Formats: sequence, C-alpha cells, structure tokens
Amino acid sequence: MKKMKEIDIHQDVDLSNVTKKAKGTLKDFKAFATRGNLIDMSVGVIIGGAFGKIVTSLVNDIIMPLISLATGKIDFTNLFIAFDGNYYATLEEAQAAGVSTLNYGNFLTAIIDFLIIAFCIFFFMHKLVVPKKQEETAPATTKECPYCKSTIHIDATRCPNCTSELSQELSE
Ligand SMILES: [Zn+2]
Repeated sequence: MKKMKEIDIHQDVDLSNVTKKAKGTLKDFKAFATRGNLIDMSVGVIIGGAFGKIVTSLVNDIIMPLISLATGKIDFTNLFIAFDGNYYATLEEAQAAGVSTLNYGNFLTAIIDFLIIAFCIFFFMHKLVVPKKQEETAPATTKECPYCKSTIHIDATRCPNCTSELSQELSE
C-alpha cells in the first residue's frame, strides 16, 4: 500500500523509481534462474522431447509391426473411412484423390502411444519414486520418551534412561 501511494505521488515520470523496479525484477529473475528451476525445466523439456522420440520409435518400429503381425498384417495408418464411399488401398491414395477421410487408425496409434507413455510414467513412478517414499515412512522402531525426550524402543514400557513408567497408549 505504501509503495502504491509513493508511485501515485511521483506520477510525473520518476525514472529512479522505474529503474529500481526494473532492477528488482531482474534480481528476481536472476534468483529464479540460478536457483536451478530454469535449468531443471530445460533439462526436463529436452529429456521429455528425447523420451517422446524414443516412445514414437518404439511404437512405430517395434510395437506396431508386432501388432500388425498378430492382427494379420493390418497397418493401422491405413485404417480409415473415405467419405466419398470409394475404396482406397492406402491413406495416401485417398488423400491424393482429395477425399476427406476419417483416420481412426491414426487415432488408435495415438491411443497406443498414450498408453505406452502412461505405462512408462507409471512404471518409473512405481519403481523409482514409491519405494523411496516407503523408505521414508517405514514403520517406526523407536519412540520418544514423553518425560526425558530420549529415543527408546517402540515396545518399551519403562524408559531405560529416566526409568519413567510408560503407558501402552503412548507406544503407538
Ligand atoms: Zn525417559
């Protein structure tokens, strides 16, 4: 509030105030950039892009041929409905003829892409992130004595340090 009032009073071009503000913004940005957020983000975007390429290749070069093999050599990209009712062997043929097509094969490919990405993310989260969390929240084997604040065994009914008697309720 005080700052806003100051600006109101010095409405007619106060350059020192403007440069001060600009310097403050620059400082904030520098703090943001050097804190690693920007670097982390950039790395994330680059890795994400590279990862996307791997997934695309995995789908197009490995998974799709296998699915095609299993389903009788159906190429998903050539699964489409031509709106003019004629038969076209390939999507390129239909597109070359200037026919509108409903490319549900491409849509299926996109869904499979998504499922694989989702599974990869789930796999990494499940295998790498969750076990770490479980480690952090591993069942406690010790507790704190409410009288002397020392760390003692979870099942102790009498504190070994101050010999205070501990009720079972506290052992939770
Ligand atoms: Zn104690």
